[in-house]
Amino acid sequence: MMTGRFPVESFQQIDTPFYYYDLDLLRHTLGIIADYAPEPNFHVHYALKACAVPEVLREIVSAGLGADCVSGGEIRAALEAGVPAGRIVFAGVAKADWEIALALDSDILCFNVESVEELEVISNMAAGRGKTARVCLRVNPDIDAHTHQNITTGLADNKFGIQMSDLQRAIEVCCLLPNIEFLGLHFHIGSQITDMQPFRNLCMRINTLVEQTEQSGVIVRHINVGGGLGINYEHPNHIPVADFEAYFNVFRRMLNLRPEQTLHFELGRSVVAPCGSLITRVLYVKQGKEKQFAIVDAGMTDLIRPALYNAFHRIENISNNGPVDETYDVVGPICESSDVFVRNFSMAVAHRGDLLAIRSAGAYGEIMASQYNLRRLPGHITSDNIGKLKKK
Ligand SMILES: *Cc1c(COP(=O)(O)O)cnc(C)c1O
Repeated sequence: MMTGRFPVESFQQIDTPFYYYDLDLLRHTLGIIADYAPEPNFHVHYALKACAVPEVLREIVSAGLGADCVSGGEIRAALEAGVPAGRIVFAGVAKADWEIALALDSDILCFNVESVEELEVISNMAAGRGKTARVCLRVNPDIDAHTHQNITTGLADNKFGIQMSDLQRAIEVCCLLPNIEFLGLHFHIGSQITDMQPFRNLCMRINTLVEQTEQSGVIVRHINVGGGLGINYEHPNHIPVADFEAYFNVFRRMLNLRPEQTLHFELGRSVVAPCGSLITRVLYVKQGKEKQFAIVDAGMTDLIRPALYNAFHRIENISNNGPVDETYDVVGPICESSDVFVRNFSMAVAHRGDLLAIRSAGAYGEIMASQYNLRRLPGHITSDNIGKLKKK
């Protein structure tokens, strides 16, 4: 599937900056996920924190994915989008009481619990409702995902999860607490992982931990391997879909999964990142001492990943089909030096008024937008509703 063709004419009618979601690419991606993970005991939960735009969620829900939520707000959004409560899992290192209450009252599938302290709170709140909370314990597997330090989560010194050395005790606490039902183990080692080796290492660690747990007489029914599959930010047109085949094959081949066990995935970025672009207009082209700046009307308030993680997003001048032979720093209007999308980047020559597409921005893009500088939040439009725009 080739992507990268934008309805530039229709874009002229929309105030910039805005997000554009290519729902055809999203549906294509969801089809590929279904193709490579057809097993009935594989359950894919979409991580809402990557993007919770209702039009996007609707497609994901129609494809039958469950939801991975990290807040009460996300549980609400998942339920509103039509995700059955029985397909919602709830993670988070610090769940507030109202969020636990909402999850219990909604009868979600499972809490991914990160400490013994949290187990006790959940058990008490469940007892008050005459319910039993189903839980997986989030284990910190001490696996290096070889990704950016701000998005690695499975190393021993991260705040996330229960240390392996404390797992046995946490499982005992689960078994002692009257309103807790232990379902299994949860892991999440980081994000934007494109090398399969960390996932292989994770499988080996899980096999050992499941075996140890079951030797102590406790059955592990759920194994949740979290998310983290990366996408290709360099070549959004040629590689528009993450390598789901390699990813699912790792788990299929390496995990000792019994037929009655279920395997849960929590994919965020790999589902939605490629389908979103931030569309922005060039306000000024400014000649610096040694550099040329393309100053655009989008900033780090609309897409913070470059400023926050030094992330790369490919940028295309979609108003100019000419040769890619000019070099720019593409920067935003915010009063922060980190408000830079890309440095020394080659694009077709840019003029005031041109539209640029900042690609692969569907995940951790619009959802992270802020109003810093009292800016307006970016809006969005999808490939499905762009045709219905009225002419200005
Ligand atoms: C963020 C997160 C995910 C999704 O990660 P991606 O890298 O977007 O796939 C999955 N599980 C948990 C617990 C998370 O915090």
